[in-house]
Amino acid sequence: GSEAVNVRLEDLPLRESLRGKSPYGAPQLDVPVRLNTNENPYPPPPELVADVAAACEEAARELHRYPDRDAVALRTDLAEYLTRQTGVPLGVANLWAANGSNEILQQVLQAFGGPGRTALGFVPSYSMHPIISSGTQTDWLEMPRRADFSIDVEAAQLVLKERAPDVTFLTSPNNPTGQSIEPADLALLIEAAPGIVVVDEAYAEFSAHPSATTLLATHGHKLIVSRTMSKAFAFAGGRLGYLAAAPAVVDALQLVRLPYHLSVLTQAAARAALRHAEATLGSVALLAAERDRVVPALQAQGHTCVTSDANFVLYGRFADAPRAWRAYLEQGVLIRDVGIPGFLRVTIGTPEENDAFLAAAAAVVAQGE
Ligand code: PMP
Repeated sequence: GSEAVNVRLEDLPLRESLRGKSPYGAPQLDVPVRLNTNENPYPPPPELVADVAAACEEAARELHRYPDRDAVALRTDLAEYLTRQTGVPLGVANLWAANGSNEILQQVLQAFGGPGRTALGFVPSYSMHPIISSGTQTDWLEMPRRADFSIDVEAAQLVLKERAPDVTFLTSPNNPTGQSIEPADLALLIEAAPGIVVVDEAYAEFSAHPSATTLLATHGHKLIVSRTMSKAFAFAGGRLGYLAAAPAVVDALQLVRLPYHLSVLTQAAARAALRHAEATLGSVALLAAERDRVVPALQAQGHTCVTSDANFVLYGRFADAPRAWRAYLEQGVLIRDVGIPGFLRVTIGTPEENDAFLAAAAAVVAQGE
């Protein structure tokens, strides 16, 4: 009867550790200007769309077969791209791919975290790190950043040695604050961490800092560099994340990945998109230039902006950030309240979107927010 479909979440025999939790929930609202999930605002160019369509048509002829479980062709292409982008020679054995870097992070925790194990992050950082930890029953530890959102490296070294997390997350550039970790600091933190260190480089293409892949030769026994095609690559809808690590790490992840996790269509589309990397990544310079226009404009309105190396800016201070967020929404501009008191995060969009955002920002200031 109808009672069966009206069952409430609290009536289900849910795992105790999931009770009362909220799912990841960036609002997906249909408003004119959407600057809330750090996407690339530029749609893929027509040549890329045509190439993806042709590649998917060809792949569709093989849809009765399971895909290449190990995605060797795609991983080979990713290795070539990452070698070009970071200057660090990497081969197919160093690369692993999954449905977004969220799935990469989940597989890492399934293999190296889990019941009785701990993961540590420097907060505020990417909100999915604790959520994926919880989903894999990994205990979550956090160390707060300084007031300027930088990591106190000396204090962090002590905490890492003392708490000995099985997995440590370092996000560079950090979401939602935007700064990169200096390479020398990165090395110190990796050396202090006894377990696996995941450097989450989702926004690396926007930053001039060297990639942590430069440390793989010396720290490959513990270092995993996580990347995504969702941001700079304008491929968020395609769902393709990847990592670079020692081949043994890739072997470990094959113990936990679901067989055939990357569909024939995903693999074909991602390979086609990679063939257009240069054209797509042209938007990175445009977005960085727009960021460098938006920041002083916000400052001129009296805002404080956290220095950002990424395609978003954390700024404030608001007496009541959730109320200010709603005031932007009333202006038709969707930005992000990441839960940091006094601050909001805006993703850099096209020049027109940024103009609309700055006009809304001025209106919100005029309202006294
Ligand atoms: N890491 C960070 C730091 C992110 O900000 C995001 C996206 N918001 C991701 C990982 C996950 O992105 P995706 O799953 O689309 O690769």
